[in-house]
Amino acid sequence: MGSWKQGIWAATMIGLSASSAMATALEIVTTTTQVADIARHVAGDQAVVTSIMGEGVDPHLYKPLASDVRRIMSADVVLYNGLKLEGRMGDIFERIASRGRFVRAVASGIDQKFLLVPEGQEGHPDPHVWMDVQAWMAATQATAIALCQANPDGCEMYHANAAIYAAELISLDEYVRQVIASIPSKQRVLVTAHDAFGYFGRAYGLEVRGIQGISTESEAGLADVNGLVGLLVERRIPAVFIESSVPDKYVRALVEGAKARGHDVVVGGELFSDAMGKPGTWEGTYIGMIDHNASTVARALGGTVPEQGFRGNVGSAEDPS
Ligand code: ZN
Repeated sequence: MGSWKQGIWAATMIGLSASSAMATALEIVTTTTQVADIARHVAGDQAVVTSIMGEGVDPHLYKPLASDVRRIMSADVVLYNGLKLEGRMGDIFERIASRGRFVRAVASGIDQKFLLVPEGQEGHPDPHVWMDVQAWMAATQATAIALCQANPDGCEMYHANAAIYAAELISLDEYVRQVIASIPSKQRVLVTAHDAFGYFGRAYGLEVRGIQGISTESEAGLADVNGLVGLLVERRIPAVFIESSVPDKYVRALVEGAKARGHDVVVGGELFSDAMGKPGTWEGTYIGMIDHNASTVARALGGTVPEQGFRGNVGSAEDPS
């Protein structure tokens, strides 16, 4: 609600054109914070963008409130991730689309051939596509196309904004590649709370193991924990990671399990998997979240990382963009 009010405030502060800005501002409602971030970059100041799921919210489990449904119904444009990430919201998207509302999945811009499909889950690709910066560039492009359809007058600007943002994403992608490659090859294993990092691992050359599966809806069995403890001990993996949107009890169990077998593993830090960091901070932006993840992982696993990450912003209280 805070950022919605800020959006109105910002529109009002434009000044002399306040009333016309309000009349033409596109109201965009998104599900996750990552999708809101794309929408803000592409729509620029010609839109009021709000997300339903905030910091630390797990999208797999999120059940929309009556107030969310009202916001979705009244928005000019609804953008969501898709690929069943928002597991409990599929019905709503179908319902509003059938009523002629404008609703699009940003992941629909990503080539099918690119999608990871876990074994035994045919027809259900891994939805965590934002973890590969190049895939997220395709989602950015899909957002520009969607906004063009919703508001053809703004089309030129949406494509121009998307191109500016894509240039930033290209340098982010290069940074991530570089810091992950600096990890000694035997230690390039990322162990986290749930399987959100498959695309990250494929894109940047890390073996990835999640304690819980692709969705947090499945409970991890003890066998998984024991198997992972074995991997940590055998490969002398120095760190495992917790996630901001998933409880850390199983990760703590890994640390204890490895310790009991004589291998000290540390929690290398908290990663932003399915939700970005606090609004207004660097980690509360998509670029900041990926920077934080890559820098934290590379540092904890023995890589070489600039002290404050990509562009010197990791840990800064303000979103400098
Ligand atoms: Zn997830």
